[in-house]
Amino acid sequence: METWVTENQTKNMRLSLRIKKILHHEQTEFQELFVVDTYEYGHMLVLDGAIQTTEQDEFVYHELISHVPLFAHPHPERVCVIGGGDGGTVREVLKHPSVKEIVHVEIDGAVIEASKKWLPTISCALDDPRVTTLVKDGLVHIREAENEYDVIIIDSSDPVGPGVQLFEVPFYRDCYKALRENGLMVAQTESPWSNKDLVARTFRNMGSVFPVTKIYLGNVPTYPSGLWSFTCGSKGPDPAAAPESVSFETKYYTPQVHQAAFALPRFVQDLLED
Ligand code: SAM
Repeated sequence: METWVTENQTKNMRLSLRIKKILHHEQTEFQELFVVDTYEYGHMLVLDGAIQTTEQDEFVYHELISHVPLFAHPHPERVCVIGGGDGGTVREVLKHPSVKEIVHVEIDGAVIEASKKWLPTISCALDDPRVTTLVKDGLVHIREAENEYDVIIIDSSDPVGPGVQLFEVPFYRDCYKALRENGLMVAQTESPWSNKDLVARTFRNMGSVFPVTKIYLGNVPTYPSGLWSFTCGSKGPDPAAAPESVSFETKYYTPQVHQAAFALPRFVQDLLED
């Protein structure tokens, strides 16, 4: 008998992956957590029915959310990662030689533990000595921070449950306050196909706080529609400014991809202008 895992991506559209087996299942304090072994994409983390990351396509999302703001910053030393309990973003940020410390703030310790056990290629850098992990609400952490970070990365789940306020103006104001001079923040902001209103609203919300706000796009096959957006707010540096070369290994990111990710299709531009 075949077993399939299905995500309801919209009211009328689903994505199903055939699985070999369920590796881990628990109801945490915050969400229902599954790790399954899929035929097509390897091990996959699912929270409250939403696919978070898979071993096969995780590199696209984690490289884009990390390397774009880190290369746009002139010299990033202190970085805060909110969410991202699977560890993929932390792994990528640590590739930047200028980074001295990452404060990693994940609300749900169970996600970190399950990822360390079942997603080792993604979580492999979580115990690096430059990483301080706090099991804490990112909203509270950023509210308490002032002039502390060069880059803040919001690697959150969808805007439901514990993630909802991470998409709103008061949180972006707190991020602005928590950033040093020349600081940048970036947030994963869902799909311009299936989350049109959210993409437009978060761009407006961030734009009401930061002098420079830009959206960029990437292709993540297991996320709704495959086309994924990231919104970047900056105190000054241009988020689209790519480096001349990259001194470490990547699978998706190149300086050319960095620049091209900011070229928006007309329908996305219209979404932002409406
Ligand atoms: N790449 C993913 C995506 O777009 O689906 C996000 C993956 S990562 C696992 C998302 C994490 O954000 C989850 O582990 C969740 O517990 C965490 N999270 C949600 N709200 C949070 C909050 N307020 N503070 C800190 N972490 C939060």
